[in-house]
Amino acid sequence: MKVKTDVLVIGGSAAGVVAATTGKSFYPDKKFLVLRKDKEVLVPCGIPYIFGSLDNSEKNLISDAILSDNDIQLKIDEAISIDQNDKICKTSDGTDIIFEKLILATGSSPVKPKWLKGGHLQNVFTIPKDKVVIDDILTKLKDCNKVVVIGGGFIGVEMADEINKRIKNVTIVEILPHILSIPFDDELAIRAEEVLASRGIKIKTGDGIKEVLGTEKVEGVLLNDGSKLEADAVILAMGYTPNILLAEKAGLKTCSEGFICVDEYMRTSNPDILAVGDCAEKKSFLTQQQRGYMLASTACSEARVASMNLYKLSALKTFTGTIAMFCTALGDIGFGAAGLTEKMAIERGFEIVTGTFEGVDKHPGTLPGAHKQIVKLIATKESGVIIGGEVIGGTGTGELINLIGVAIENHMLIISILTAQIATHPLLTAPPTAYPIIKAAEIITKKRRNLI
Ligand SMILES: Cc1cc2nc3c(=O)[nH]c(=O)nc-3n(C[C@H](O)[C@H](O)[C@H](O)COP(=O)(O)OP(=O)(O)OC[C@H]3O[C@@H](n4cnc5c(N)ncnc54)[C@H](O)[C@@H]3O)c2cc1C
Repeated sequence: MKVKTDVLVIGGSAAGVVAATTGKSFYPDKKFLVLRKDKEVLVPCGIPYIFGSLDNSEKNLISDAILSDNDIQLKIDEAISIDQNDKICKTSDGTDIIFEKLILATGSSPVKPKWLKGGHLQNVFTIPKDKVVIDDILTKLKDCNKVVVIGGGFIGVEMADEINKRIKNVTIVEILPHILSIPFDDELAIRAEEVLASRGIKIKTGDGIKEVLGTEKVEGVLLNDGSKLEADAVILAMGYTPNILLAEKAGLKTCSEGFICVDEYMRTSNPDILAVGDCAEKKSFLTQQQRGYMLASTACSEARVASMNLYKLSALKTFTGTIAMFCTALGDIGFGAAGLTEKMAIERGFEIVTGTFEGVDKHPGTLPGAHKQIVKLIATKESGVIIGGEVIGGTGTGELINLIGVAIENHMLIISILTAQIATHPLLTAPPTAYPIIKAAEIITKKRRNLI
């Protein structure tokens, strides 16, 4: 069977949906078709909550209405090959989809290292964005009492915290000196460790997994230092790898980091084929070095840029690198980070000044539900440009870190934050007199003027 469309989007998760809906709003006369292999698609960032707060995956689905409401066609099928010259995509049910423009949003899959002995045992799980697999893991975990999570990045931490709501023996193993070591400097990562420990989660840092022990089923984990942890389930949260096979087979250019190469309009080596989301090349906004950051927020931003530029380029709508903005929550304590940490900035050669202020997120701090709010800002010493920020606070942390992200993206100066006009209210914000982000900027200003 032959099907014709103007724009074909392969992948129907975060990046695919946003690419199709944004594209349709910019080019309403064009026909859009989303091709997606899964019958149902999970909200990827909601996956950890299926294991605790949500209790099942049905409450965590992306609704197909977002496509049908926008006059976008959906075909549940797998793309198996692309002819980039004749612009034809073949699918597993034998359909040829003829397209004018193609957006690849094929995402990423979890990594299970080949060297890991015992990785094949029953109850060794990775966390794919696949409803059928996730439902199976949920069922199997119901019979487990001791879970070891390998990897203390945000996915490992969220998985551990949610599983801990049902199973009271959960341990995180992290090879780096601290959990969440990539988005946070040590002093903030240590706070996250303290919060997790207070919630009953055991943490072993500075040590990695050597082997999963057991005969048929998992019985434990052997670590590099020779110690053993008992376990009846192991979750491997050791990272994700971009799904680029389809693009590679089509002859599109891929980069050394394993992504599909793209330019600032998200165009691949064939300008009529774009790539967005976890499968597309990632560069640091601040250094332009290739990086492995895979985030839904970045995926959606790339998808918007790609779709706006599908048929005509705009010099104003380009994607010039990921700021790596991240946030998570442990109970009602939020953790957020954007841009470079102090540690990373120094490693990459920036001369920097930092300012950290600890305040409260309501005023007075005696109000019910008030939280400590810690803001750390990182700015370049000479020019005073904001290049990074970290926040720990209440549930407002997500929005505050987004504000810092906007400051980084717009190369804002620390003086602009220091003198910023802000809205405050006792129930909603920190006090105007000790607004943590402004106070952190004040500390940086004093340091730059050698006053402290
Ligand atoms: C547990 C977890 C929690 C996360 N939490 C956060 C968070 O809080 N914040 C955040 O910013 N990011 C988070 N992320 C990262 C985020 O989920 C990803 O960055 C995001 O899913 C990327 O979206 P995507 O559309 O590029 O790819 P994916 O979500 O991987 O989707 C790709 C889609 O393409 C389909 N596909 C692939 N190949 C084909 C083919 N050949 N034919 C048809 N269809 C195909 C796949 O089936 C899939 O549906 C989390 C990730 C995980 C796993």
